[in-house]
Amino acid sequence: MNFKFLRNEIITGNASVKEIVNDFFSKIEEINPKINAYICTTRDLAESQANKIDKLIQNDERLPPLAGLPIAIKDNICTKGTVTSCSSNMLKNFVAPYESTASNKLWSSGGICLGKTNLDEFAMGSSTETSVFGVTSNPWDINRVPGGSSGGSAASVAAGLCAAAIGSDTGGSIRQPASFCGVVGLKPTYGRISRWGLIAFASSLDQIGPITNTVSDAAEVLYAMSGKDPYDSTCLNRPVPNYLDDLNKSIKDLKIGIIKECFDHPGLNPEVKESVLSGVDRFRNLGAQIIDIECPRFNDGIATYYVIAPSEASANLARYDGVKYGYRSDSGSNFLKMTSKSRANGFGDEVQRRILIGTYALSAGYSDEYYKKAQRVRTLIRRDFDNAFEKVDILLTPTCPTTAFLKGDFLNDPLSMYLSDLLTVPANLAGLPAISVPCGFDKNGLPIGLQLIGNVLEEHRILNAANIFEIDAQVIKNKPSF
Ligand code: GLN
Repeated sequence: MNFKFLRNEIITGNASVKEIVNDFFSKIEEINPKINAYICTTRDLAESQANKIDKLIQNDERLPPLAGLPIAIKDNICTKGTVTSCSSNMLKNFVAPYESTASNKLWSSGGICLGKTNLDEFAMGSSTETSVFGVTSNPWDINRVPGGSSGGSAASVAAGLCAAAIGSDTGGSIRQPASFCGVVGLKPTYGRISRWGLIAFASSLDQIGPITNTVSDAAEVLYAMSGKDPYDSTCLNRPVPNYLDDLNKSIKDLKIGIIKECFDHPGLNPEVKESVLSGVDRFRNLGAQIIDIECPRFNDGIATYYVIAPSEASANLARYDGVKYGYRSDSGSNFLKMTSKSRANGFGDEVQRRILIGTYALSAGYSDEYYKKAQRVRTLIRRDFDNAFEKVDILLTPTCPTTAFLKGDFLNDPLSMYLSDLLTVPANLAGLPAISVPCGFDKNGLPIGLQLIGNVLEEHRILNAANIFEIDAQVIKNKPSF
């Protein structure tokens, strides 16, 4: 159910917000056991938020922009008084003592909090299989993964268990699951949305963003969450435009760059390639100018990312030592033993792997060879984009090399799993906004996503192009059925 539909129900008085919220909870009760998208629900909070909006309606008062719209939050984003677990044994019992800025802005815009969604442990993964709460299923085929790490958020939107969900994207974790689940996912410019209250994975790459049914819904949620924040010094102090304003502008003569290197990559599934290229034709027919662009370093993104992200993770996750908060193993009075046992039992295999890779890449004697070199390549990737944006307005690639894979396919093969991020990590490394929008289905009926990348703070351009495409293509006609 998109915002337009729900808003109409609310404004016409067809249903109270409380009724709408209760309907969502009934649906969650029925369907969540089949897909495991939610880790927990927040019924009391939702009901009190709903009552407030219903009172405003009764008193004929002005409604805030997201009034009554039910939203789910990825469980690595702090929500005060609720467990915020990162799907990890380490934080399984951690109750957040404060609210993240992004979610706080949603609630003050009238949004309703339905609950917290499943993710790969500490947002490290591409399949939501590393969660301590078990894997989430893809609503289009429950034998398949929903993507990751924001798999619970994408699956909950695809299955109609919320109107919108919030994810975080360090290397593709909003866009890749959005692509696998046939919904829209937007990673904003680095710094557009505050990271205050987002549990850090790799701080120079992490961004919060929306996962929604439509591009226009993503524009609204982005608007609500954006803006400066004194609690996050990396959050940009720049005006927030109303992203709905430009949404329906004609894209005639919009210059769209096709990144050659992505389409030539041997790992790109032919069905995905064909579907995205027919998307390119659609853009051409809509009047856009299609221009081939070279980004020679684009495919080096993955190697660069898998040095930088684990390096930052190893530093960020050092705080989980069994002392301050989180899981503590009982190891008598020996501090070192207690700390190492707490970390060994608190973190799962993939998180430990990342910490080890990062610690190694940052260690004396190796940091020049790995970490510093990766930072240099990162700069080259950014320069490729800078050059590209001198010639074109936005860039187009597939979102992922494949459609949703079967559960277990890559669980014991991390390097193949990492390849899933090939097309999404460059935007994080360069700090650029990027959106995934459904563009078709493969022969198994699995959704395919098309990615549009914009220049810094040019979310309005990619939203505009994605919206015109979405309306013209009408890819998602029906929700998956259960
Ligand atoms: N799949 C990538 C990883 O495992 C991206 C994760 C993310 O964006 N949070 O690192």
